[in-house]
Amino acid sequence: MTSDPWRALEEEISTCTKCRLSMYRKRAVPGEGNKSSIAVFIGEAPGEKEDEQGRPFVGPAGKLLTELIESIGYRREDFYITNVVKCRPPENRDPGDDEIEACLPHLKRQLELIRPKLIVCLGRHSARTIFKLAGLKWVSMTSQHGKVYSAKILNLDVRVIPTYHPAAALYNPQLRSVLEEDFKAAIKPTLAELLEGKPSRKTLLDYVAKRAGSG
Ligand code: URA
Repeated sequence: MTSDPWRALEEEISTCTKCRLSMYRKRAVPGEGNKSSIAVFIGEAPGEKEDEQGRPFVGPAGKLLTELIESIGYRREDFYITNVVKCRPPENRDPGDDEIEACLPHLKRQLELIRPKLIVCLGRHSARTIFKLAGLKWVSMTSQHGKVYSAKILNLDVRVIPTYHPAAALYNPQLRSVLEEDFKAAIKPTLAELLEGKPSRKTLLDYVAKRAGSG
C-alpha cells in the first residue's frame, strides 16, 4: 500500500480483475500525461500497441491525436490522456456496457484527482459514458461533435467537447478535416478561455523567457 494516490490508483488499475477484459490483457493502460492539466482527453479502450506498451494512444490513432493536439499549438504532454476502459477488448471489439461500468470507478478517481476544466471525448463510447456521468443527453456524434457543453461531473464544473475518435479518421479520411475543425473551432478557443487567469506552463515559460530577454 502506498500513500501516493496516483501510484495506488495505477497499481489498482494494473491488477484489476473486475471484468473479463483482465483475462486477455498483456498490460492494463491507466493513462499518462500531465496530472494537473486543465484538460483530459478520453478515448475508448487500448488497442494492440497500447496493450503491449501499457501506454494510451501509441499506435496510428495516437499519432493522429498527437498531430491534432500539435495543430492547435500544444504538446501531447500538456494534457492527461486516458480511456474509458483500461484493458484491450479482444480483437479490438467495442467495449461492452458491463465492462465500461466495471471500469468507471477508475476513470472517476482519475477525474477527481486531476479536477480538469475540460473533458474531450474521443469517440461515441467515451462521449456516451461522460454524458451519462454528467446527466446530459447523448444522441449521436453526427449531431453533437464539436459542440461545447457545460456540465457538472463529480461536483466539478467542466466543459465537455465530444469529437470523433482519431481511428475513425484513419478509416474514413473525410473525417480528418472534421476532427481538425473541431480541434480548431471548439477545443482551441475553449482551452484559451479556460487558461485565462490560470497561466499554462507554456505561458509561464514565455514569461520567464521575456523577463530574461529584457535584462
Ligand atoms: N484507441 C483508443 O480509444 N485508445 C487508445 O489508447 C488507442 C486507440
